[in-house]
Amino acid sequence: METCFSFSIKNSGKSEPSDAKVCDQQMDIIAQERSFSESIAAKKGPSSDKVNKSFSKLKIGVLALQGAFAKHCEMITKLGASSILVKKPEDLLKIDALIIPGGESTTMLHQIRFINLFPALHDFARHKPIFGTCAGLILMSNQKSTVHKDDSLEALDVVVERNAFGRQVESFKANLEVMLPASKSFSYPAIFIRAPRIKQIGPKVTILSAYEGEPVLIQQGIHMASSFHPELTDDLRIHSYFLSQVEKSKNGN
Ligand code: GLN
Repeated sequence: METCFSFSIKNSGKSEPSDAKVCDQQMDIIAQERSFSESIAAKKGPSSDKVNKSFSKLKIGVLALQGAFAKHCEMITKLGASSILVKKPEDLLKIDALIIPGGESTTMLHQIRFINLFPALHDFARHKPIFGTCAGLILMSNQKSTVHKDDSLEALDVVVERNAFGRQVESFKANLEVMLPASKSFSYPAIFIRAPRIKQIGPKVTILSAYEGEPVLIQQGIHMASSFHPELTDDLRIHSYFLSQVEKSKNGN
């Protein structure tokens, strides 16, 4: 896969824990992440999208093996579409698009392997849209990424570096300028939790938003991904845009 851009990323100087250590720390990290997410989600921003009637025909799957899947389901339901939890390969047959949530990509990866979901996911990615948020972005990236070299969906021509925006305690909120095709740019309150940095993008990748000059919301054809957690605000515009892309692809446009 060719990449055309490269971003200079300051080395955080933090060493990546081994898989075994990550597993040991798992429960602690997940609990901390949940409490941070809940505290930050309590401070809701303005809701800024209306239910779109045409979305009622869409069935959006949310990978529900681990991580922040419930909040994505809420966003989808608020937008008028149906959300379906994806826990096994057959579930992919029922849906028009898939969201891979944030969480812990190493754990998700183990579970994906355990239930042998990769072949069906690869096939799905060839035909139907996927939106990967945070850990989801990591799983969609290409094999040049610093971890998960052996199993990656390679749905996006991007190279990412895990945890490169800092540790759990360095989680932050930033107002981004989001530029969606055919609409006015808008300010969006984005929440970053142990977020991956996008270090390189290929020629087919469009940057929809950047933070300090680096892409954090991208689209490549039918697929989208973000470094941050769009499900943790009350702002539906990014999910709404994804559903409009799903609708377009379902109608063959
Ligand atoms: N850093 C996590 C990982 O590597 C992702 C964090 C998140 O999804 N909030 O999987």
